[in-house]
Amino acid sequence: MRPACSVFRRFLQWPSRCVRQRQLVTLAIETSCDDTAVAVLEKRKNGTAFLHFNKKITSDNRKYGGVYPIEAHESHQRNLAALIQQASPTIPNTTMYNRKRSQSEDGFWRNTKEKYSIKKPDFITVTRGPGMRASLITGMDTAKGLAAAWQIPLVGVNHMQAHALTPRLVHAIHSKDVKDAPNIVPRKPSFPFLTLLVSGGHTMLVHSKGLCDHQILANTTDIAIGDMIDKAARDILPKSILDTSASVMYGPSLESFAFPQKTTSSIRPRYEDHEPFVPGTKVRTSQKYGWMITAPWSRSGDKGLSSYPDAFTFSGIGSAAKRIAETRLEMEEEERQFLVREVMRVSFEHLTNRILIALENDEVSKVDALVVSGGVASNNYLKYVLRTKLAENGYGHIEAVFPPPKYCSDNAAMIAWTGMEMFEAGWTTDFSALARRKWSIDPAADDGGVLGLDGWVKQDITVDEERQSPGSKVRFIG
Ligand code: AMP
Ligand code: ZN
Repeated sequence: MRPACSVFRRFLQWPSRCVRQRQLVTLAIETSCDDTAVAVLEKRKNGTAFLHFNKKITSDNRKYGGVYPIEAHESHQRNLAALIQQASPTIPNTTMYNRKRSQSEDGFWRNTKEKYSIKKPDFITVTRGPGMRASLITGMDTAKGLAAAWQIPLVGVNHMQAHALTPRLVHAIHSKDVKDAPNIVPRKPSFPFLTLLVSGGHTMLVHSKGLCDHQILANTTDIAIGDMIDKAARDILPKSILDTSASVMYGPSLESFAFPQKTTSSIRPRYEDHEPFVPGTKVRTSQKYGWMITAPWSRSGDKGLSSYPDAFTFSGIGSAAKRIAETRLEMEEEERQFLVREVMRVSFEHLTNRILIALENDEVSKVDALVVSGGVASNNYLKYVLRTKLAENGYGHIEAVFPPPKYCSDNAAMIAWTGMEMFEAGWTTDFSALARRKWSIDPAADDGGVLGLDGWVKQDITVDEERQSPGSKVRFIG
């Protein structure tokens, strides 16, 4: 018999004979916040990925004015099973064999194989943390139940790691188009790269050096940028806009109010035409309306860099915006628009300044990609500010990579992809593992980062030679 580790190595390299036809399929569940999301992802031996299913249902928190944990938890309980029911038929068929020993007419006993196919993933992926406890538990328990019933492994992944790996998913999904449309295939960020996670719950600058090695270079000291944006939107946007918003995630409404799209949505507004909003422009709103929002910790004459290189802060920007909106109740639409733009400009320049400080470090400066992920990454003005400031400061060679908006906000496809990368690296999660409200991605953190948690199992994988066709093809030994 072949030693297990060599079989495992061969399996990882998707090589030769026994794995020629094989693909990996995972069903993934994401319930860390207010989105109930399910995906079915298949990864082929050539590295391309197919999303067979990717849907989410967001709990309606509008009457609470923000994410309300009990409402979110109940929404997961209401919707998760139904989404899995919809996802199951999209799982590609797996060919299985029943071995039988039967006596034929000539009286001899023979071994026969009966072929049948079922829809069953190779493993279940689920968000184990960080996030809201009750919401995470709903996903974890459902995932454990599915894995136990299907007799397949479980992979409990880190939500923030998933945001960081999203561009690798997007590359894999688009790789299948490489022959027909090479221009639309985004490049695959290879380690090391910089990740800026800007979401409703997090604001982090991360030096991603490997699948499980993400060094946190800067973190928010108060609230997340998305949280501040949602609150500022409630303070500044006209009521008519707030009332028609589909959710309490007001970021998209804030952006389109600030820079209305005059043409098709694929053409971004020309920020160059809005002079004060070109990064570095000296003309400020104080000259126009008598108020201004100052950059956090800024000192004049030092390009806006500050003395807190490892920290973001957004509560001051939000409070300033609230104060201005409260004292100028009769603001005309133009001034409101100006205020929203200033909130974005100051916040985005603050983000960019921390990136420029980080790039002064020799090791960090070796990166050739900056991955921007999380819901706020879909903001086109942020893209403009980041790209302009990187180029202005001599970092034009660093590519700013923005995953498409549907993969930027919380979704199960990124969870599925992270499960895929962890599973291929040999990691699975024991059924006794619990959901974790807090879970760092930095190995230097107190909890040890991605691999610091209990419950990880490093497995040797052997290939079941009988299951050659698409679908399940691994079983565990040991
Ligand atoms: P996430 O926590 O990753 O799901 O991201 C949700 C956050 O992203 C919310 O705070 C949204 O308001 C914010 N967001 C989404 N789209 C935009 C946008 N176009 N501009 C600014 N913020 C946005
Ligand atoms: Zn998120």
